[in-house]
Amino acid sequence: MIVVLKHGVPEEKKAQLMSWLEGQGLRLHISNGEYQTVIGLIGDVSGVDFDLVSSLEIVDSVKRVTEPFKCCNRKFHPDDMIVEVGDVKVGGGHFVMIAGPCSVESEEQIVTVARAVKAAGAQMLRGGAFKPRTSPYDFAGLKAEGLELLRIARKETGLPIVTELMNINDLPLFEDVDVIQIGARNMQNFDLLREMGMLDKPILLKRGLANTLKELLMSAEYIMASGNERVILCERGIRTFSDYTRNTLDLSAVPMLHQMTHLPVIVDPSHATGNAKLVPPMALAATAGGADGLIIEVHNDPIHALCDGAQSLRPEDFAALAEKVRAIREVVA
Ligand code: PEP
Ligand code: MN
Repeated sequence: MIVVLKHGVPEEKKAQLMSWLEGQGLRLHISNGEYQTVIGLIGDVSGVDFDLVSSLEIVDSVKRVTEPFKCCNRKFHPDDMIVEVGDVKVGGGHFVMIAGPCSVESEEQIVTVARAVKAAGAQMLRGGAFKPRTSPYDFAGLKAEGLELLRIARKETGLPIVTELMNINDLPLFEDVDVIQIGARNMQNFDLLREMGMLDKPILLKRGLANTLKELLMSAEYIMASGNERVILCERGIRTFSDYTRNTLDLSAVPMLHQMTHLPVIVDPSHATGNAKLVPPMALAATAGGADGLIIEVHNDPIHALCDGAQSLRPEDFAALAEKVRAIREVVA
C-alpha cells in the first residue's frame, strides 16, 4: 500500500501519521519527491483501515500495491533513483559507460585497457578477478591478485572499479571495490543478496540467464529490504532459441523495467551477443531504447584473451562506439 500526502503537509502531522502506521507493525519507506511525499507500507497491511487513511486531512490518495516487490517498486518511489559512485552518477538522466576486459590478466593488460577506455570516455572500469566459468578447466581469474591489479588501474586512471563477487567468504577482499557485481549465475543466490543489502556500496545486479523481470526485481528487493538501496540493474541477455548469438538481448526489458522500478537499468551487449561485431549495433540500440548506461568488454589483444575474446572490442573500436553512443544520447536525452 502507498499513501500519497498532499503538497506542503507540516512535518509534525507527517511524523504523527508515520508513527501511527509504524505502531501497526509496518515498515515505512519514505520518498520525498519535489512535488509529493509517498509513504510506502511494507509488511502485512491487511489490518490497515484503507478508508480511514484515505479520509485523513493530509492524505491525497491511498493505493494498494499488488506487486510482491515493494522497495524497488516505482509506485513507492516515483522519481528515478540516481546511484552515485564517487563523482559518477547513474540513472535519472545520467548515462554511464563501464568498460574493460572480461578478466584481469596482468598489470600491463588492465592498466593499458583502463587508460584506453578512459580516454574514450568510459567513467568506470570493469574487470573480473573471480570468474564464474562453465568449465572447471577454464581460467577462473587471478582472484586477490586481480583485485590488487584493479586497484593499480584505478590509481593510474581515477576510474572507479566494478568487479564480480561470487562467494560471501571473499567479501573482506572487496572492501574498497567501488561497485560489486552480482553476476547472472548468482542472481538468485539469496544469501549473497542479503549480504549485499548490509553494505554501504552500489551493487550491479545482472539478470539471470533464465529469469523474468519480476524475479530480477525480487532479487533487487532482497538487497534493498536488507538496507542497501543503491542497486543498478543490468540486462545481459537471456536464453532463448537463438542459434547465432550467445544469448538474446531482451531490449524491451529496459523500458519495461523503467515502468516497474525507479532503479537505473544498464545493458551489457557483450554477454548478450557473444560476438564483437554485434556489440556496437546492440549498444546503440540499447542507448536509443533508454538504457541508463552500458557495460562493455574491451581487450587490448582479444585474440589472446583468457576469457571472452570473441565478444571483446579493441580499444579503438570502443572509442568509435563511444562517440556514436554520445551522438545517440544527444538525440534521445
Ligand atoms: C561478467 O560480466 O563478467 C559476467 C560473467 O557476466 P554475466 O554474469 O552476465 O554472465
Ligand atoms: Mn565476460
